[in-house]
Amino acid sequence: MLPWSHLLSTWLIRIHPEFSEGLTHTMPRSLKTIFLGAAMTSVLLLATTPVANAAPFPELRMADNYAHAWCFGETLPKDQQDVIFYASDRIDAIPIMDTYGQTCRSGTDVYFYDKDLDGLRGGYICTTVGPNGRCAYGAIYIDFAYLDSDPPASRVWHNRRKTAVHEFGHSIGFDHHSPGYHDCPMLQGRVPDDHYKWRYFPVHDADHVNAAY
Ligand SMILES: [Zn+2]
Ligand SMILES: [Zn+2]
Repeated sequence: MLPWSHLLSTWLIRIHPEFSEGLTHTMPRSLKTIFLGAAMTSVLLLATTPVANAAPFPELRMADNYAHAWCFGETLPKDQQDVIFYASDRIDAIPIMDTYGQTCRSGTDVYFYDKDLDGLRGGYICTTVGPNGRCAYGAIYIDFAYLDSDPPASRVWHNRRKTAVHEFGHSIGFDHHSPGYHDCPMLQGRVPDDHYKWRYFPVHDADHVNAAY
């Protein structure tokens, strides 16, 4: 765990007390999920060691269901909102996933924040684990200032979007995928070029998610 991670978890509990309580709510498409535990589990996916992804899906906790609602956890400028809408569309492009923004409420799966991450591009935390060990609620942090200052300036647009898609990818069960395996948004670090492959999930990845529900 990095030094700020504990503080982050504490902060989340403080401003989003619903994350640590047992909840009953109705999900879109009438998928009802009952959370009995009050267990608070934080998984911070900021490790720097690339993994070979021969592991079966999910490589990390998958989302509790394919209805994947997200919200802006704070007021973000339009250029940052656009990045998150872009990433949402990339997750929604996975056939089984139904991904959409909404006003933050009980039942929202992912909260988005802009945050200084001390040199990290982004981070994802599953704040509450639901039934079957899947993630019920989580939060995504993107360090826009860091991404905007990472050269070359001509690639800021691409790095912002790749990072948002990448963190979203963690929230549906992907760990890091090395370029030696295939090229996709789960690459760590800055994008090597402006190719769309760093912002779109390939059929291989999409098929894993489709088969998981
Ligand atoms: Zn990552
Ligand atoms: Zn991949």
